[in-house]
Amino acid sequence: MDWDIGADVVVVGFGGAGACAALEAAAQGRSVVVLDRFAGGGATALSGGIVYAGGGTAQQRAAGVTDTAAAMFGYLRTEAGDVVPAETLRQFCEGSVTMLGWLEGHGVPFEGSLCPDKTSYPTNRHYLYYSGSEVSARDAAPPAPRGHRTRGRGTSGGLLFARLAAATKKAGIKVVTQTTAVRVIVADGRVTGVECRSLRGAPWWARTAHRVLHRAARKPYLYVPKAGRVLHRPVTWLERRYGRPLLVGAAGGVVIAAGGFGASRQLLRAHAPSARGGLPLATPGDDGSGMLLGTAAGGATALLDRVSVWRFLSPPPALLRGVLVDADGKRICDESRYGAAIGDEIIGRGGRAWLFADRATIAAARRELRGSTLWFQRLQAGYLLTLGRVRADTVAKVAAKADVDPDGLAATVAAYNAGAANQGAGAADPAGKPADLVRPQDQPPYSMIDYSIRPRLLNPAPVLTLGGLVVDHGTGQVLRPDGTAVPGLYAAGRSAVGLCSRSYVSGLSIADCVFSGRRAGRHAAAASPGAGGPDQRHDNGGAYAG
Ligand SMILES: Cc1cc2nc3c(=O)[nH]c(=O)nc-3n(C[C@H](O)[C@H](O)[C@H](O)COP(=O)(O)OP(=O)(O)OC[C@H]3O[C@@H](n4cnc5c(N)ncnc54)[C@H](O)[C@@H]3O)c2cc1C
Repeated sequence: MDWDIGADVVVVGFGGAGACAALEAAAQGRSVVVLDRFAGGGATALSGGIVYAGGGTAQQRAAGVTDTAAAMFGYLRTEAGDVVPAETLRQFCEGSVTMLGWLEGHGVPFEGSLCPDKTSYPTNRHYLYYSGSEVSARDAAPPAPRGHRTRGRGTSGGLLFARLAAATKKAGIKVVTQTTAVRVIVADGRVTGVECRSLRGAPWWARTAHRVLHRAARKPYLYVPKAGRVLHRPVTWLERRYGRPLLVGAAGGVVIAAGGFGASRQLLRAHAPSARGGLPLATPGDDGSGMLLGTAAGGATALLDRVSVWRFLSPPPALLRGVLVDADGKRICDESRYGAAIGDEIIGRGGRAWLFADRATIAAARRELRGSTLWFQRLQAGYLLTLGRVRADTVAKVAAKADVDPDGLAATVAAYNAGAANQGAGAADPAGKPADLVRPQDQPPYSMIDYSIRPRLLNPAPVLTLGGLVVDHGTGQVLRPDGTAVPGLYAAGRSAVGLCSRSYVSGLSIADCVFSGRRAGRHAAAASPGAGGPDQRHDNGGAYAG
């Protein structure tokens, strides 16, 4: 085959997982080429920049927090279940302190300023917080705050990616942008390269228009997908009109790190109908093309039906004192759980949910609004505390306004208030909510805030796809349906099944991108000629070398 470009390791996708795979392969002394359909960054650059880490990181210690790898493992086991082997999860937890140090070594800043409240995302004053349901799961493992937000104003994923991109440049890694991988090339049973459509060689104005228009469409695509899709049409047209074939050879292996499939309405409809009514947290690159490159080469997929649907009650944190009920007026769960766990519970009850709160709770929430939110949270919470709620003087009337069963609601509120009153006598909340959040909701007027999952501009339910290509959890190699590896093919990040594929908590996707990206990069590098021959192991025992 006449390759246009070649390297030991070729990485498809320059987001978080791709950058980490490339850095790790380059650190092993291998030549690396990274391909990206756009300019790189993907969802990682638009994200909140939260990385889930623990076991006694420097930031946890600075904040006076005690944590161990065993406690982190104990908690994550309740979230991840057996989505990865216990040994892999243990390696992730035991290597967590070193992993954060590795990111810091590449310029990603973190800080041990502990957020005092349970929140969906801390403000610019705090960079360490409880980003999952750790306190709710306190019987399984000692809780600790493990959400490490990249230290930067606003949503700091842009800074996280910028630092990783600068590190790849420093490492001499070649990044080929405006180049879409369309097929994985297999010769003699082994993946040897990637066929692409590239704008390299296209007129300068077409390349500029592609770059500028994609950039302009990224955020609308995220917040108002219909408008984003319209804005993105000329970008796709330019790719069709001016894209030319490019063959990229890979002597050691190809790593697919091309994100998820949240931007493909077809794939979402086919695999994750429960995402209907949610707002896909996706960039145009999350069209599932990475996953399809892998399946065309023989790879299997799993957990495509697993999507994370977010319903955060806090900020403002006072709302956690309320009672979340379904259409029958029955309590749904501990209101302080992580937003994706709450989203799962709401979907399980037909997608309808309301938070019952009394006058004191609403007043406290209003007072907290400014100090506990960033602008996008303030917009959403402001809507919920005004147009998004109904109000009445009695429980029966407010139930009628929200179209919730009044008898069911009355029974739930009576039981909750009795439980709150008995707390002094040592009674625990039956749903497991921490005692400081259980307050009687008995001061009229009463409010019902609508947390149902349905399309709404100001209170959307974000959706993240979690499943992908099945990989060997020791090496990151893509596996066929019969469990054998596709030689030379690796996958990482949201293109693959990983640590967060059963259940997402904030920071676990990026942490998984770092963990799985580095693992794939390391093993693809080891499979390069001159590095000990192709890596055919898939023993789940590859030590995580931090
Ligand atoms: C608004 C928002 C906030 C979030 N906040 C957090 C958070 O704080 N913490 C957390 O853990 N997770 C968060 N997530 C989720 C997380 O950002 C993503 O799951 C994760 O970054 C995915 O990384 P990735 O490397 O797998 O893919 P991406 O970062 O999306 O990178 C994939 C890259 O592949 C490229 N690509 C796609 N197809 C092709 C192809 N065929 N050929 C060439 N290139 C291709 C794309 O252009 C893209 O640049 C958030 C997501 C969003 C949208």
